[in-house]
Order: sequence, then C-alpha cells, then structure tokens
Amino acid sequence: MDAAAGHQEFVDVLIVGAGISGIGAAYYLQRDHPGRRFLIVEAREASGGTWDLFRYPGVRSDSDLHTFGYEFRPWRSEVAIASGDRILEYLRETAGTHGIDGHIRYRTTVTAASWSSADARWTVSVSDAVTGARSEISCNWLICAAGYYRYDEGFTPRFAGRERFAGPVIHPQHWPQDLDYAGKRVVVIGSGATAVTLLPAMAQTAAHVTMLQRTPSYVLPVPSHDAVNARLTKWFGDERGYSMTRWVNANRQVVLWRFCRKHPKAARRLIRHLNAKLLPADYPVDEHFNPPYGPWDQRMCIVPDGDLFGAIRDGKASVVTGHIETFTEDGVQLYDGRRLEADIIVTATGLNVQALGGMALTVDGSPVNAHDHFVYKGLMLSGVPNFVFVFGYTNASWTLKVGSLCEHLCRLLSYMDSRGYDAARPVAADPGMAGLPFLDFQAGYIKRALGRLPRQGARAPWRLSPHHRADARMLRRRVDGPELVFSSALAGGSAAGSPEEARAGRR
Ligand SMILES: Cc1cc2nc3c(=O)[nH]c(=O)nc-3n(C[C@H](O)[C@H](O)[C@H](O)COP(=O)(O)OP(=O)(O)OC[C@H]3O[C@@H](n4cnc5c(N)ncnc54)[C@H](O)[C@@H]3O)c2cc1C
Repeated sequence: MDAAAGHQEFVDVLIVGAGISGIGAAYYLQRDHPGRRFLIVEAREASGGTWDLFRYPGVRSDSDLHTFGYEFRPWRSEVAIASGDRILEYLRETAGTHGIDGHIRYRTTVTAASWSSADARWTVSVSDAVTGARSEISCNWLICAAGYYRYDEGFTPRFAGRERFAGPVIHPQHWPQDLDYAGKRVVVIGSGATAVTLLPAMAQTAAHVTMLQRTPSYVLPVPSHDAVNARLTKWFGDERGYSMTRWVNANRQVVLWRFCRKHPKAARRLIRHLNAKLLPADYPVDEHFNPPYGPWDQRMCIVPDGDLFGAIRDGKASVVTGHIETFTEDGVQLYDGRRLEADIIVTATGLNVQALGGMALTVDGSPVNAHDHFVYKGLMLSGVPNFVFVFGYTNASWTLKVGSLCEHLCRLLSYMDSRGYDAARPVAADPGMAGLPFLDFQAGYIKRALGRLPRQGARAPWRLSPHHRADARMLRRRVDGPELVFSSALAGGSAAGSPEEARAGRR
C-alpha cells in the first residue's frame, strides 16, 4: 500500500529480478499475453543480475552463448564463451529492443509476499533499497526470477589467522575496481569456475598467480570460437544459423553429460588425457587435475582454448593442492608445512545459496518453509498458488530452462483464461511421499543449502528431469493435470479437485 496515495498498486504479473531469467520471462509474457500488465522489481540499481554484479578479471560464461543466449534473440558472434561485459550488453540490448526496460522498477527489494485465496492475489511487500521506505504491490501471479544466491555476501570459510595477513583479502563477488595487482604475487583460494577464470586473467600482469585448492576439479578445455556456428550462419543466415547451433550445442551438452554419468572411468581418462596434452611433460596431472568424484558429480570447469594450462606452461601461474593451516603475515601456511607467499589473497570460495530471493512467503496466513514443499514440474511449489520460480540447469545452460518454463506458464495462463480460473495450486495426491534433495549435485555450496531448498518427490510431476531435453518434453505437454487444482475466487471455490483437498474437506 502506498500510504501517501492511499491505494494499492496492482499488476497481473509481478516478476522479481531483472537478470537473464526476469528479462526472459517478461519477453514471453509480453509476446503471448500482451494484455497482461506486468512489472519487474529489481533490488539493485541496474539490470543484468549476475552479469552486472561480478566484475573480477576475466569474468565470463562457462556455457556457450548459443545456448546461454535466448532462443528468441540470436547471439551474433562466433565467440561462444563470452566475457561478462558482452553478456551484460546482450541482456540490456534485449531489454531495450523489446521495451522491457521500461517495465523495470529498480532499487526495489521484495521482502515478503502473502497469498489470499479469497482474493486470488498476492500482496507483495517491497522496500526501497536506498530510503528503506516500504510499500505493497498486489498481483495475481508472482514469478521469482531472483537467481539462487545472496548478492550482499559471497561464501568465505573461516580461515585461521586471517587478521594476520597484511595485504588485501578479496572475494570475487565484491571486486574492487581500483585493485592494482600488476607485479604482485597473488594466491587464489578455490578450484571452481571463478578460480580457473581468475588464474590466466590475472597472470597476464601479476608477478605470479597460485591457485590453492583443497580438492581438484575437472577442467575441460573448449574452443572459445564456435566453428560450427560460423559455418551454419554463413550457409543459413544469422537467425537460422543461430537456432541450428543452439540445437547442436544443447544436444552436445546432454550427450557429454550422459557419457560422463554412464562411463565415468572413460570420461575421467579422456579429460585427463586432454589436460596432460596441454601441460608440461613432467607435470603432476593426477595431483592437481584428478578429482576424487566422478565427472559431472559437480559442475565441470570450462577453460576457453585451454587458457589456464597456457598460463601454467608459461610459468606465470601454478596450482597447489593442500589444506590451509593458517594465514600468515605474508601469505598462507599449509598443514604439510609448505608456505605460499602472497601480496593479495583472493577467496574464490563460492556463493551463499539463497532460496526464492530471500522472500518470506505466506499462503492464507501460513508461512511457507521452502523445504517443506515439493517442486511441481520444476517451476511451482506444492500448496503455493500462482507462484513460479526460475531455477535453471546445473548440467546445461541456465537459459535453456527460461524459455521452456515461460512458454509453459504462458500456456497455463491461456488455459486458465479460457476457463475463467484465477488460481492454480499444485497439490500432491500423496503428500507423504518421500522427499528427495532438490538437486542431485555434490558441490559444497549446494550441499550446504539443501535444507533451505524445496524438495523433489519420488515421481512425476514432482521429480525434476535429469536433463533439459527431458524437461522441455515434459513442459511441452498439457498444462493441466490431476495434481494442479484450479479455482476461481469470483465463482467462489475450486473448479477441479485433488484427493488431498477431498480428504481435507475443502471442496
Ligand atoms: C560468475 C558466474 C558465471 C556463471 N556462468 C554461467 C554460465 O556460463 N552458464 C550458466 O548456465 N550459468 C552460469 N552461472 C549461473 C548464473 O547465475 C545463471 O546462469 C544466470 O545468470 C542466473 O540468472 P538469473 O536471472 O536467474 O539470476 P541472477 O543473475 O542472479 O539475477 C537475479 C536478479 O534478481 C534480483 N533479486 C534477487 N532477490 C531479489 C528480491 N528479493 N527483490 C528484488 N530483486 C531481487 C537480483 O538483484 C538480481 O538482479 C554463472 C554464475 C556466476 C556467478
């Protein structure tokens, strides 16, 4: 409620977040439901989400942009693994071209949302990030496109003796733009996508960069330029070439993932072979590049044109595998007695996962604890009406999900319009079914967060699809189903039922 104006603003659809997911959702809504009023609320002062926040040296995608880009807007470059600023430019151009940027309200953080079945509406509490002023917006549908991690702080484990270190300790999520590391010795703690990106980028001017990892990751060299795309766009033009490349690359991601899961030993040998070829002859490949887990148990690190290995070959960068005992005045001391000297320490130790943009949800006065809810078709939550959240793939480009999810939602809205429904609530026929972790993914940052994330059920439509092709197939099918209960507040009740509702005597 805007107290001064004395009225509550209403939109048909409220989208939380102006990153790649929120901008994508707005495009599909606008395309398929031009009559629906929508608004994007964005906590930050700018759009782009991840691609505006992260500014560390070399920041880039690890997916190819032909699948990470939108289906509806060709990525017009042969550079497939793109820099953060090019991705940001692409996102903002998309928002501008489709008139989406005029629908974004910046510096507006959603803190809570409460659903009223009597009104078939969400009342969404927002606060102005600068003044702290609070107001309310109501909507019929709420789309959470708020990403999956906290923006205010990254994850940094406690390091003994941290206060002893004389130089700067930097988390890549908050990179100081004026940091001068030319000629400096840098230790990057971590072994994930950020660490393998930072190493070659900083090595260009630093005296030396050391990646200090506790456990190795799989590191796969890939070409930064997409030769297939170059040929396809030459033969078929930009638009068709792009969609063909997208198809080829999306399928390649599934084939690679399947191969790794089905034949982990062969995949491990292959990756090791590719690494060894790019490293000096006597390099201890197994010590630094042979993880104790199977390929794709965690997200695989991609290095364009093997740049990481190039920096190691040139002697400008190195990898150390060991456990930190303590920070010292001039670096890091390991348990095995080794000391790494540093002028700057970078803690590339990951993200703090956050469910549903940190919003407190209630449904008819009852708080929603995400972990108590099952995921319905990978886009809604059991018992939570008219709420969709966007969570992309961990084994393929995030954006592949945005398109299929939004098209499914748009068809659901059309279905409801044609029957006069204004609410849709997923309800499990057997609410006591066994719950599985939201993600079958062994990365530390995901494992730490599983207790705060919703769960998947043991069967469809509560089970997440193993890969995007299966997911897209499921989302292309009909939008209604026995476990999606429709109702109309105006008509005063449920229009379709479920065993659970029948049991509860609610119909
Ligand atoms: C460095 C880096 C590289 C990555 N590279 C890849 C890659 O190559 N391929 C891939 O598939 N994935 C990659 N990812 C994962 C990546 O985050 C997603 O692919 C994608 O960018 C997520 O987009 P999003 O719009 O869903 O979320 P985000 O980009 O996180 O955007 C969410 C937006 O929501 C806003 N927001 C959050 N909560 C609220 C709230 N309560 N109220 C209002 N606004 C809110 C945020 O301010 C933000 O602007 C990468 C992640 C990182 C950190």
